[in-house]
Amino acid sequence: FFHAEDGIRDRSPSRGLGDVYKRQILGYHKGSKERLDVEKTYNQMFNSKVDVPQYIGSEEILTESRKDILPPHDHKNIVGTFSQASEKHVNDAIENLIQNKSSWSNTPWEKRCDIFLKAADLLADKYRAKITAGTMIGQSKNIFQAEIDAACEFIDFLRFNVSYLTEIYNEQPIDGPGKSNHLEYRALEGFVYAVTPFNFTAIGGNLCASAALMGNVVLWKPSDNQIFTAKITMDIFKEAGLPDGVINLVTGDPEMISDIALKHPEFSGLHFTGSTSVFRDLWKKIGNNISLYRDYPRIVGETGGKDFIFCHPTADIDASATAIIRGAFEFQGQKCSAASRIYIPESISDNLINKVVEETKTIKMGSPIDFNNFMTAVIHKDAFKRISSYIDYAKNSDECKILHGGNYDDTVGYFVQPTIILTTNHQFKTMQEEIFGPVVTLYVYNDNDWKKMLDIVDNTSDYALTGAFISKDEESIDHALKKLKYSAGNFYVNDKPSGAVVGQQPFGGCRASGTDDKAGSKLNLLRWVSPRLVSRTHNPPTDYPYEYMD
Ligand code: NAD
Repeated sequence: FFHAEDGIRDRSPSRGLGDVYKRQILGYHKGSKERLDVEKTYNQMFNSKVDVPQYIGSEEILTESRKDILPPHDHKNIVGTFSQASEKHVNDAIENLIQNKSSWSNTPWEKRCDIFLKAADLLADKYRAKITAGTMIGQSKNIFQAEIDAACEFIDFLRFNVSYLTEIYNEQPIDGPGKSNHLEYRALEGFVYAVTPFNFTAIGGNLCASAALMGNVVLWKPSDNQIFTAKITMDIFKEAGLPDGVINLVTGDPEMISDIALKHPEFSGLHFTGSTSVFRDLWKKIGNNISLYRDYPRIVGETGGKDFIFCHPTADIDASATAIIRGAFEFQGQKCSAASRIYIPESISDNLINKVVEETKTIKMGSPIDFNNFMTAVIHKDAFKRISSYIDYAKNSDECKILHGGNYDDTVGYFVQPTIILTTNHQFKTMQEEIFGPVVTLYVYNDNDWKKMLDIVDNTSDYALTGAFISKDEESIDHALKKLKYSAGNFYVNDKPSGAVVGQQPFGGCRASGTDDKAGSKLNLLRWVSPRLVSRTHNPPTDYPYEYMD
């Protein structure tokens, strides 16, 4: 059945994927073209400066007040500046969005899709080296981590979202006798406010692009520590044909920007990813301002984690060790899904712990442009201080010992050695709190207690983002899936708890970890529409009595 009002011509749910879905993870082998491209681009960007403006409508405004952009692994090398918005800039950005709202939300859906599909193609090709090198410089990711984030995940978000849009638009009510019914998936009436974290270039792009694809206008406030690639993202959207004033980017004091956005009567939704405390604060503000708004705003937040790996007594030692090392130390433990509390049965503990420690000793750390390095620096001074304070706490505690690591140095960059803590207390501070750095805590349990331990896993932290259960015993897996039903929004069996792929592992957690709206899925896009039901009667009744009255 065809609803002309929707303008739906191509009803294939595979739009965005299908034949055009050809994204690859590049290998960056020595001597490969992609590696040479990234090296060249990295060196150019690292040795020059870029000034990031506010993007407000057609204007790119460089303010007088600026902050420096500093690579975390070499924080004395200034690679650019970013502008600090005034209250007027924020107000202007919102007013501009409101002016453009009607034309964008009435833009045919195919056109909106084409723009974001073109952005995906630009990322996959023309801008691939630039966004990868930018992520290596600005966020200190090694080349592989930059590739799977800034290129692959971002491309996937854009293409899969188009596919999900077509699925959503295809979901229509049935028609009744003499009536045709139609759901029109309107954009929200006001604007969406996207507040994004430092740790994924793809998340920054996706939180605004997903809402914009559904016809919304978006005020984007990226993290100060992702600005370098936020600019590349805006340049790509513009080159892909996104009209001015659909996504306006403002940078500066996050509280000031948020206070203005959240007091605006046309504020219709918050698309947030970041820490739990900031999200709770924003939610409170929205609650306090609720009578100011025309709409009940949509609130989507993906926040912190204290992600676990539970090794069952049948767990494979090599698979467990790899899951622990990759899960805990990739991108310096700065993934919301990073493994940070590990439960190990006594029977395999000597072998497993020994393997984890010995392998961790081989990890090299330094600049991301040296491809031997598995790890680089943590994101900024405050993160460095926070992480090192947890290490110092462990050093001074008699409930744990540090098996490896424990050193940190911020002379050149914010480097923290991968650190393995072994505790005798399953409620130890580093088993409970999000550290967001390369620190993992191990706890050894008695094999016979593995079922009881699952209750402890469930109750140890406020978070419920990701978790992994490693076992060769199917019954134990079934049991864990039931016991840990609400302990993680993403639950991995026989793998690390990180590394979600769009379209394969829709991502999000519950409890203190967020609203579980699953970024990279149809569920997320549904939050950015306000459906209107249109029911059309073909032969309207012409008198009021019903037959039973005869
Ligand atoms: P953050 O909370 O410090 O910052 C996130 C965003 O909020 C940034 O844009 C920042 O400028 C803004 N912000 C900071 N203080 C604010 C305030 N007072 N008012 C308004 N906005 C404010 O987080 P981060 O350090 O950028 O990212 C790390 C956090 O994000 C971790 O807790 C991590 O677990 C979480 N995270 C979660 C997911 C997920 O999918 N669950 C994904 C990535 C990151």
